[in-house]
Amino acid sequence: MRLHWKWVLACLSVLILVLASAHLYLDHAIRDFWISHVEQRLLREVRFARVYLSDMANTDEGLVPLVNEVGVRLGVRATLINGQGRVLADSETDPSDLSALENHTDHPEISAARQQGRGSSLRYSNTLDTEILYVAIAVPEIGDGHYVLRLSLPLRDMGHIKQLISQAIWIVSTLGLCLTLLLAYATSRYISRPILDAIWFVRNIASGRLKHRTLRVGSTRELRDLGTALDDMRRQVQTHIGQITLEKSRLEAVLTSITEAILVTDQSGRILMGNQTFEKLFGVSDAIEGRMPIELVRHRDVQNAIEQTLKTGQAVFLDLTRSDDRERHFDVQIAPILQDDHIAGSVTIFYDITELRRLERIRKDFVANVSHELRTPLTTIKGCASTLADGALDDREASQRFVKMINTHADRLHNLVEDILDLSRIESGALPLETGVYPLHEMINSVVGQIRPLAKEKTLTIEINVKENVQVQCDHKLIEQALFNLLDNAVKYTPEEGKIWIQTRDFKPVENDRENRRNRPEEIENQTRTRRIALEVKDTGIGVPLSDMDRIFERFYRVDKGRSRAMGGTGLGLSIVRHIMDAHGERVYVESEQGKGSTFGLTLPEA
Ligand code: ADP
Repeated sequence: MRLHWKWVLACLSVLILVLASAHLYLDHAIRDFWISHVEQRLLREVRFARVYLSDMANTDEGLVPLVNEVGVRLGVRATLINGQGRVLADSETDPSDLSALENHTDHPEISAARQQGRGSSLRYSNTLDTEILYVAIAVPEIGDGHYVLRLSLPLRDMGHIKQLISQAIWIVSTLGLCLTLLLAYATSRYISRPILDAIWFVRNIASGRLKHRTLRVGSTRELRDLGTALDDMRRQVQTHIGQITLEKSRLEAVLTSITEAILVTDQSGRILMGNQTFEKLFGVSDAIEGRMPIELVRHRDVQNAIEQTLKTGQAVFLDLTRSDDRERHFDVQIAPILQDDHIAGSVTIFYDITELRRLERIRKDFVANVSHELRTPLTTIKGCASTLADGALDDREASQRFVKMINTHADRLHNLVEDILDLSRIESGALPLETGVYPLHEMINSVVGQIRPLAKEKTLTIEINVKENVQVQCDHKLIEQALFNLLDNAVKYTPEEGKIWIQTRDFKPVENDRENRRNRPEEIENQTRTRRIALEVKDTGIGVPLSDMDRIFERFYRVDKGRSRAMGGTGLGLSIVRHIMDAHGERVYVESEQGKGSTFGLTLPEA
């Protein structure tokens, strides 16, 4: 029930109670007052009548007219009763009928008058349908000294007065009720209006609408105080929410910028939040709040570890390997969130150590490969030296052969060590790029100058087919080294009488022939807006099988180990090229068809 209706009902109940009590009280008071008033009157009159009768009466017979006269004159019923209770005279009864009247001895007012000199009594008369008040006194002056004179009066007027007063009370009550209803309704609205305003105000605050006007709830002091208090509360809530929002956005910014996947759970292990990296890593697209970690991470160990941390409050570390599209390794660290000495939740951080593991593996492979590569020439050199020491020196022909072998393998060792040093220098970044703008032609001529003798030995022709006046931005020494490696390979893997072209290519879309093309320059060009040129070394050599094309840039990877070694290859040439291009932010690519030839290209930014 609404407040103002309650208030109206309360007022109404109080009013009805007050009016009913007033009505009851007045009813009694009027009755008491009227009875006492009539009794006093009758007492005065009966005393007067006693004197009158004592003075005037000589005989008993003479009393009848006198009693009648008293009754008529005073407007009451006068009755004279003798000592035996018989009525001697009655102003309202014919003298001839007096003998039929009952004996009055037992009437209370008569017996009281006899004993105490006076008495009164109130009785209901069925005949008259009203109450009658009787007042009697002893009249010892007449008759045998035991006579009693009684006056009586019906209390009809009292009923009339009571009716009038009742009417007045009803009218006043009805009016009062109407007025009270109106007043109660008005005051209740007056009180409930500000309360409704305050409710609206608080609801607005609760739903986050904090910027509305100041609350004015009323003119009374208490309501004004309430309004001020609520307004203060709104301002404080606004400030706090502002602070919380700021903190939240800071936290979100921090969490977003962190490259590790982070997952926060509450005390029951349900997810509170996860950062973008987490969502990306575990392919989450729906809302994650309220879900269990296992639903998203799909790894029992992680779920168990989170539960353990939430139970014990201890940090837990574990390794996680995921193999969705590719294998990835994580160091998972779960720490408790402690709040006032109790565990309020957990934070799980997934450190992606895939790259670390890969590098570790590469390092191990590298060490194994290097040792392997070094072993053969060293063993050969050692073998030759021992044989020479054991007497082969005397055999001139044999010793020349062994020294030649030692020389060849020492060259191989030298090449290997040089290549390894180059590779590690470029890879470690210890070699700062000395970029500048260089004419492409000059760089090509310088490299071709070094390679031509080798090509000549194998009767290979080199044709330069390069766009005129092209300037490129690069570290020319490194790019020349990369070009040298490509040309060196072209010479090595092209049979005699073959042909080598050095050419440039514009980035015009070419047919998408997935079978024999990899890392095409057009795709690379699309990645940035810088104008690029591709410098290509094309040969009519043995070509690279499709299955090996992706791997030939790896260290020590060779399609045909025997052939490579025979050619003095180290298996590091293309790896060095790739690292040089990576250091430039550029790419090396290959297009090849086995048995027909290969095209290796370098992308370079035009100056
Ligand atoms: P290597 O010292 O063995 O030449 P590289 O890293 O330079 O090592 O090349 C890796 C492998 O790629 C070579 O062993 C060879 O099988 C292949 N390769 C490189 N260039 C060519 C080419 N022009 N024609 C055919 N195969 C090539």
